[in-house]
Amino acid sequence: MDCLFCRIVAGEIPARKLYEDDQVLAFHDIGPQAPVHFLVIPKRHIASLDELSESDRPLAGHILYTAQRLAIELGCEEGFRVVMNCKDLGGQTVHHIHMHVLGQRQLHWPPG
Ligand code: AMP
Ligand code: ZN
Repeated sequence: MDCLFCRIVAGEIPARKLYEDDQVLAFHDIGPQAPVHFLVIPKRHIASLDELSESDRPLAGHILYTAQRLAIELGCEEGFRVVMNCKDLGGQTVHHIHMHVLGQRQLHWPPG
């Protein structure tokens, strides 16, 4: 298995876990870009967002809802940002889909 996030799911690489159920895992980003910066991933390997299929719609909603709920739990009720980078031109570096959640600092748009 050469996917970093699959190895985190399998427990082969440690992560600071925030939440886990049968479908998703959330853990703190190792290189935080804000005081709150965590990732929500599906446990099943999906390489990038453009590989989602119709049957993955409930999973995609579950990822988004998990992101929202954890953001609030971590004190981001005044605002936060979610980001999903898709493939090389979208800035994706780990090829297992993940939703970034950033909060607890003022964020701007466009991000630059
Ligand atoms: P992206 O550039 O959207 O693919 O984001 C990949 C993210 O994964 C980056 O923000 C990295 O800091 C983060 N990351 C890489 N390795 C780890 C790890 N072992 N544990 C937690 N986060 C990681
Ligand atoms: Zn994977």
